Amino acid sequence: MTDITMPDRSGRFGDFGGRYAPETLMTALAELEEAFAEAWVDPLFLSEYHRLLREFVGRPSPLYEANRLSEHLGMRILLKREDLNHTGAHKINNTIGQGLLARRMGKERIIAETGAGQHGVASATAAAALGLECQVYMGAKDMERQSLNVVRMQLLGTEVIPVTSGAGTLKDAVSEAMRDWVGSVETTHYIIGSVVGPHPFPLMVREFQKVIGEEVADQLGDLRPDLIVACVGGGSNAMGIFFPFLEAGIELVGVEAAGEGIESGKHGASLGHGTPGVLHGARTYMLQDDQGQVHEAHSISAGLDYPGVGPEHAYFQDSGLARYESVSDTEAVEAFHLLSRTEGIIPALESAHAIAWLQREAASLAGKTVVVNLSGRGDKDVQQVINLSTEPGL
Ligand SMILES: *Cc1c(COP(=O)(O)O)cnc(C)c1O
Repeated sequence: MTDITMPDRSGRFGDFGGRYAPETLMTALAELEEAFAEAWVDPLFLSEYHRLLREFVGRPSPLYEANRLSEHLGMRILLKREDLNHTGAHKINNTIGQGLLARRMGKERIIAETGAGQHGVASATAAAALGLECQVYMGAKDMERQSLNVVRMQLLGTEVIPVTSGAGTLKDAVSEAMRDWVGSVETTHYIIGSVVGPHPFPLMVREFQKVIGEEVADQLGDLRPDLIVACVGGGSNAMGIFFPFLEAGIELVGVEAAGEGIESGKHGASLGHGTPGVLHGARTYMLQDDQGQVHEAHSISAGLDYPGVGPEHAYFQDSGLARYESVSDTEAVEAFHLLSRTEGIIPALESAHAIAWLQREAASLAGKTVVVNLSGRGDKDVQQVINLSTEPGL
């Protein structure tokens, strides 16, 4: 592959990506690819998408000079404030885009899977705003753990369908959503929540998220940062901010979840410590054993708790276009407190991983200018952090 901006005709980024899907979905995926390609050059579609980003989501999100954190860590830090978007994270950029595309394709129903409920809420929000019917598959165990997000989705008019098969968590919800889509593809669009899944999803989600990096490029003006840093679960917020800077000679660093520590085996670092395989329709780095059985991922933050990663990141890693590091649960919680106290911004635990990496690398980053994608706000994580915390006063 010579062109780094597009996957090849079979949806591959180098050795990664592709379309590993049941026969019944192959036609639907081809139709989706074509519909997206048409929509993405249609001025009417683009103006509606950008109008919604502006007036509904609240874009552009600010690029904020974090002076007190900068002073504390000895580098210049600029925060891309995706936490200020409607619904509190970057996920809405994608669900609005895919929701509009579904409507354009004449599909009246959308489905989604959700783990902690963040993608489910973003999908339910887009569905309500666009007048689409919405059903979200969610593991029964996750529904108990994340009851507030279940109620949110219901308030937005979405039906949340409990999944009791398997362990009753995200992986099982993905399987159920896939099963639904195989039987309902005539009337239904499946909104995948990150740059993962069979072609064209990784490409399409990247295109809907790259508005983050495009805005940063505008907001920086003549200023040239040394690094751009973002957390990586499936990889959509990182891809969104990295992509417009791919050939700019700026170091791009993705931060994965080291969970309880890489040696413990309980982590979510698919790029750093996984091996190539096929997961959820694409060839990518994933956590698996010698027999190809998928390993459960572990992270304190639900959004990074995924055993795979977007195939384009796998390609970036192998070709040296970006590099990937990891920080532990403990380091992320420390950074969660640090940003809250120094800047008055309570970050999502996912986003705290990016800050934690800066904190750990402070000596080697001294004097540099760093843009961090603050992918979401941390209100959702406050209870979890309180339960964990041994810090006085909490
Ligand atoms: C879901 C989520 C993530 C992880 O997903 P990516 O696709 O890797 O961006 C990161 N941050 C927040 C706030 C999230 O909600």
